[in-house]
Amino acid sequence: MSTISALRRQHDGAAKPDAAARRFQVYTQRDLDRIEQLEQLPEQTRFDMRVVASVLPFRVNAYVIEELIDWSRVPDDPIYQLTFPQRDMLSPGQYARMAAALHAGAPKATLQALAHELRAELNPHPAGQLQLNVPTDADGQDLNGLQHKYRETVLFFPSQGQTCHSYCTFCFRWAQFVGDKALRMASTEATRLHAYLRDHREVSDLLITGGDPMVMKTKHLAGYLEALLDPAYDHVQTIRIGTKALTFWPQRFVTDDDADDLLALLSRLVRAGKHVAIMAHYNHWRELSTDIAQRAVRRLRDCGAEIRSQGPLLAHINDNADDWARLWKTQVRLGIVPYYMFVERDTGARHYFEVPLARAWNIYRDAMQQVSGLGRTARGPSMSAGPGKVEIQGVTEIGGEKLFVLRFIQGRDPDWVQRPFFARYDERATWLDQLQPAFGDAAFFFEPAYRAMQAASVDGT
Ligand SMILES: *Cc1c(COP(=O)(O)O)cnc(C)c1O
Ligand code: SF4
Repeated sequence: MSTISALRRQHDGAAKPDAAARRFQVYTQRDLDRIEQLEQLPEQTRFDMRVVASVLPFRVNAYVIEELIDWSRVPDDPIYQLTFPQRDMLSPGQYARMAAALHAGAPKATLQALAHELRAELNPHPAGQLQLNVPTDADGQDLNGLQHKYRETVLFFPSQGQTCHSYCTFCFRWAQFVGDKALRMASTEATRLHAYLRDHREVSDLLITGGDPMVMKTKHLAGYLEALLDPAYDHVQTIRIGTKALTFWPQRFVTDDDADDLLALLSRLVRAGKHVAIMAHYNHWRELSTDIAQRAVRRLRDCGAEIRSQGPLLAHINDNADDWARLWKTQVRLGIVPYYMFVERDTGARHYFEVPLARAWNIYRDAMQQVSGLGRTARGPSMSAGPGKVEIQGVTEIGGEKLFVLRFIQGRDPDWVQRPFFARYDERATWLDQLQPAFGDAAFFFEPAYRAMQAASVDGT
């Protein structure tokens, strides 16, 4: 009997069918009319949904609809806002154009062309992700599906993991879900990943990301990860897996056919001396409220994986300190380590979700003050911008000038990390590129070097 099935018996009792088991049932834009819970909403709201879902990706599953959303609180319910399209996610002009096309019964090709045009207005690839971070192999070939932005960490986008169990309305990777192949960053090639890691001894962390890699069957995940048990990869000490499956489909870790195999795989990596970290995306404490979500957390921890949590601060979903404090407290109780609070990125429906940096910092600070030291491990609010991850450390006054104190948590140049720097206070700014250097300086300290890096990259975007 393997450790994992023993663990499973311990938690789940005898091998009888699990009452929490569900078949994965998904709804996309075409299925909006089949979601019974939407029938209670006004006709106009449902039409608005169709309009927005014609431009931005939409996908939700029955577990989210039936167990996470409180339909008596719609439209304010945070999980509803997290998954269902809302009219104001498009600008009034964009909305009007798509609404008119749908009203007029425009042919599919026209709708698609319009959708394509509107998506291009929504900054589908923020922070120069495609161009600046794709590494090359020894022959100078681009290694698609890999990103190597920060020295010690390589990101890998396995092609089987480029979707999610549901989509978040604020997703910064939304562009790849609407079928635009040019925007995809995926790879099927385990051999190239392995070769790259063997050649790069400075890499201590591999981060498998998506979409959601936990959408993959365990056997595919094993194809990428098992090789790392070989001594040639001893420098790769940490394997991180970014996922929102603990929210959208916790069954993945409990009742799915290959759930036990998944835990056995992770356990094997842990026993071989790797640090396995599940980088869990959470936005709201309610995501952790179901029995199955908590069982999934327990099972992962029992196999020796750590769970760290990260997620953006979002208007309409979690823009208040009490919800963050409750989220962090719940996580600490369950053994999840709070890791990052992100600032919503400059893409997609950003104008709907964005929170000014000054307010974000106040929420962060107020939430921190409500939790014990074990909950204060979350850094932030942090912007994943072109030059690196920049944290708002605070607001202060020096020589009569009101300022933001900033620092790099991660930088394209490791030498930038942890150096405090200053920007003029701006109550409305929502992103790094809207901030001005303090003290009348012409540029932030990193800007000349960053510009040189951009100029040296393929197309400089
Ligand atoms: C956040 C991030 C990482 C990991 O950074 P840590 O500070 O080690 O968590 C790696 N690559 C990219 C592109 C990132 O955005
Ligand atoms: S889980 Fe992550 S990748 Fe998937 S839709 Fe949400 S934010 Fe995007």
